[in-house]
Amino acid sequence: MRVLTEPSAMREWRRVRGGSVGFVPTMGYLHAGHLSLVEAARSQNATTVVSIFVNPTQFGPNEDYTRYPRDEVRDLALLKEAGVDAVYLPSVGDMYPEGHQTSVVVSEVTRRLEGAARPGHFNGVTTVVTKLFNAVEADRAYFGRKDAQQLRVIQRMVRDLDMAVEIVPCAIVREPDGLAMSSRNVYLAPEQRAAAPIISRTLFAARDRFSEGLRDPDALRRFVRGEISRSPLAEIEYVSVADNDSLQELEAQVTGQALLSVVIRFGKTRLLDNVELG
Ligand code: AMP
Repeated sequence: MRVLTEPSAMREWRRVRGGSVGFVPTMGYLHAGHLSLVEAARSQNATTVVSIFVNPTQFGPNEDYTRYPRDEVRDLALLKEAGVDAVYLPSVGDMYPEGHQTSVVVSEVTRRLEGAARPGHFNGVTTVVTKLFNAVEADRAYFGRKDAQQLRVIQRMVRDLDMAVEIVPCAIVREPDGLAMSSRNVYLAPEQRAAAPIISRTLFAARDRFSEGLRDPDALRRFVRGEISRSPLAEIEYVSVADNDSLQELEAQVTGQALLSVVIRFGKTRLLDNVELG
């Protein structure tokens, strides 16, 4: 397994390698969710590349950039074990050289949900993902449905800018008790971790209600708020029932597909989860 740290070295390695390349961008501190993306990439491509880069520009000033969990040694061992061909590990200095002043901005679909809660977040994401795509020149890139809005933003960007990469969405991987896997789950204190499965339990219950015919988006939001507010440790940041593509909040009856997504705080830790309806 090659470890490459500079954009030019990454690109050169990829070009010599030839064949199809599957790419999995991550911020490291890997778990089974990341590894499921790696597995999908491996099954569909001759070569698999994973990047690990905790991107400072997608964190707000009061967010967890400095304390974001990192364990490069363990991550590299996991990726080697998973049969990855190359790991791209750029430094912050290489990604953002002195005087950098260019960014990639996706407008409409970044304004809601996470974009509203975390101003500037998606500009950081789209800029860094563009830079990673330019270095890796992948044929396919794998993104988790866990970050549902991020997936839609990247799909929009790739279409709008004619990027020569196919975006492959991958299912959410969960702990046995239903909690969506996340590098940030390590922040949870034991009692918060014990309470956290209320999120997925509630989303699945709401999906059941939807299947039974509940189509009123407000009633769905109320149901989710009601269930989650039973946990004294959970604080609701938002509950959204939105159009599955545009992520416009739905007011009228759900007719097509919708995305039910939530952000719940346990103390300072924000947990995201979602289910698709219909
Ligand atoms: P991150 O390291 O959190 O930036 O995530 C890197 C990629 O892994 C993103 O495409 C995420 O959506 C994806 N991912 C994170 N957690 C999960 C999960 N539990 N299941 C599936 N994909 C995930």
